[in-house]
Amino acid sequence: MYRTSLGDFELTVVSDGTYFLDGGAFFGVVPKTMWSKKVAPDEQNRLEAGLNSLLVRTGEKNILIETGIGNKLPDKLVQIYKQPAKLLDNLHTAGVAPEEIDIVINTHLHFDHCGWNTVRRGDQIVATFPNAKYYVQRKEWEHGCLQLERDAISYMSPNYDPLLETGQMVLLDGDQELLPGISVKVFPGHTANMQAVIIESGGGKGTKKACYISDLIPTSMHIGLTWVMAFDLFPLETIESRKKYYAWAMPERWLTVFTHDDQTPWGYIEKGERGKLGLAKLT
Ligand SMILES: [Zn+2]
Repeated sequence: MYRTSLGDFELTVVSDGTYFLDGGAFFGVVPKTMWSKKVAPDEQNRLEAGLNSLLVRTGEKNILIETGIGNKLPDKLVQIYKQPAKLLDNLHTAGVAPEEIDIVINTHLHFDHCGWNTVRRGDQIVATFPNAKYYVQRKEWEHGCLQLERDAISYMSPNYDPLLETGQMVLLDGDQELLPGISVKVFPGHTANMQAVIIESGGGKGTKKACYISDLIPTSMHIGLTWVMAFDLFPLETIESRKKYYAWAMPERWLTVFTHDDQTPWGYIEKGERGKLGLAKLT
């Protein structure tokens, strides 16, 4: 389990397990001859991807960013993705019970980011984290409701609509501070309204920052500006959003957390030889 401190906060990577994604879809227009030097695909051209959530303990509140795939995938998708469903076990190992989560933040509503928002209990679907308030961008939810041909499969309303009905999920309109040191910022590209979560603690010059950048930079292999996933709805905006992010994060040395990297869940993005972007591991 990966754990570090950030100012007065404690950050723990809690995983829902791993799943397999098509290598071509994962790396978009990047030729296989290039990406396969970084990671070897299996005989079906698939790569093993992580499902990293981030637990932030501020001392007063427990915040869970992202909730993985969960345990209620339809049968067809269980065949494709299996259903690792390890998040609650890993949270338990990290010393936190579902009742102790105060805030859940979903960066967007694709099924592999909000699956554990809810669980089936009898014939009902209820909140996995009964005492939490859940946050997502309003326009992201509206997009999911459209059920467009391109991405309807990614948006499964049982992951969020039951929470809207009970008032547990709050829809946000743009960038916002949710509590001191925890704020969300929209970075368009993967979807139009995907939000990253910026975490800061320490105060004054000793302030330390981290960012759960979600699918804007899904793994440490996607740091290069043009290494954009084929899943992204707006690839040109992904590139612009990454430039913006790097301009903020690199000078201040933000710790970047990668959702889908099962080997390197976090690190510092920096310029290496000949200006090439790379990652410095957390030490
Ligand atoms: Zn996504």
